[in-house]
Amino acid sequence: MNPPSDPRRYDLEALRARVRDERGGRVDDSIPQLAEADPDLVAIALVLPDGTARTSTGCDVTFSLQSAVKPFLFALALLDTDGEALDRVGIEPTGEAFDALKLESDTGRPPNPMVNAGALLTASLVDGSDAEARADRIARGLSAFAGRTLDVDDDVAHNEHLLGDRNHALAHLMRAEGTLTPSADDAVAVYARACATLVDTETLAVMGATLAFGGLNPRTGERVVPRRVARDVVSVMATCGVYDGSGRWMRAVGIPAKSSVSGAIVLSAPGRLGAATVSPPLDEQGTSVRGRIMSEALSDDLAIHSFEVG
Ligand code: GLN
Repeated sequence: MNPPSDPRRYDLEALRARVRDERGGRVDDSIPQLAEADPDLVAIALVLPDGTARTSTGCDVTFSLQSAVKPFLFALALLDTDGEALDRVGIEPTGEAFDALKLESDTGRPPNPMVNAGALLTASLVDGSDAEARADRIARGLSAFAGRTLDVDDDVAHNEHLLGDRNHALAHLMRAEGTLTPSADDAVAVYARACATLVDTETLAVMGATLAFGGLNPRTGERVVPRRVARDVVSVMATCGVYDGSGRWMRAVGIPAKSSVSGAIVLSAPGRLGAATVSPPLDEQGTSVRGRIMSEALSDDLAIHSFEVG
């Protein structure tokens, strides 16, 4: 049992044990590397205001960020454009799947930065004169959020570029609307590299914590983005981070978060903690089944639901 407690003493192994026998969900098979993920992997990490981490068994396993990169791409786009990114991408939830071929009907902008269309666009807004320079800028920016140099899995990036037909379609659609500046192929290549960035659960929790603590990395003390940028990003995670499951997530878990097809979830509880879970089997909305259960239990047990009256 895990009584309500201080995150420093919270029993992460007990939480893992609670979900280990859960058999629901399906591992993503959009690219071979994701299909090969271990369906039994379950890990959770917390990062506290002083930068210390609490980690469970399994936190050493690496995986690609996939859509968990989207909040950070939005943050870097806001930083590099001095806020102009807010005019280039919407911030309304779609109620549709992450890769829906849909843009805002009146503006041709992507609906929000947490769906694929939006992330293709935010990745194109970071500083850099060509695709390679933008990919490098993103790698440096993500590393600052993580507090260490992150690597990219070239095979994952290659396959996502090759097999991401819906992403190519979205990029072409935005080109046709005049909302995407680089070529569609460059936009997909840069986004695919960002999605293929490798992390482990603890590192992803540090990234979530950097947003939770107003853009200040609690590990390195580096100010990665201004407070206002972090606040904007976390707000949009709260409303759009779990796609068409965002309303249900916010009621039950109440912590701004971003899900991803690798089975990772990054959570940012402002001023309290950053967290990450990973477990590959996904529900219909593409959210890790065990990750959702762990997140809900964590929120209840530590009383960190955003709308919990303390
Ligand atoms: N790279 C994946 C894609 O663009 C990420 C999607 C996700 O994690 N939901 O299809």
